[in-house]
Amino acid sequence: MVKKRCEFISHDMNGIKIFDHQNKALVTITINPKGLECQHCGTDQCQHVEFMLTLPDIAKTVRQKIKASRPIN
Ligand SMILES: [Zn+2]
Repeated sequence: MVKKRCEFISHDMNGIKIFDHQNKALVTITINPKGLECQHCGTDQCQHVEFMLTLPDIAKTVRQKIKASRPIN
């Protein structure tokens, strides 16, 4: 069994908060028109974003928010 490394904490206007048990850090992932950014790693290519996208409800909300924040061409 894989040890749980990340835990979902909350989701609000400012982004998604995840607790990283491996690094013992509270990580915030923000949503902007370009996509996602993990404030801990400065990228969207990290385990935190990867973990977040495994949560079906959150992944869905995030996709909608990114879409909504993009200007309509
Ligand atoms: Zn990260």
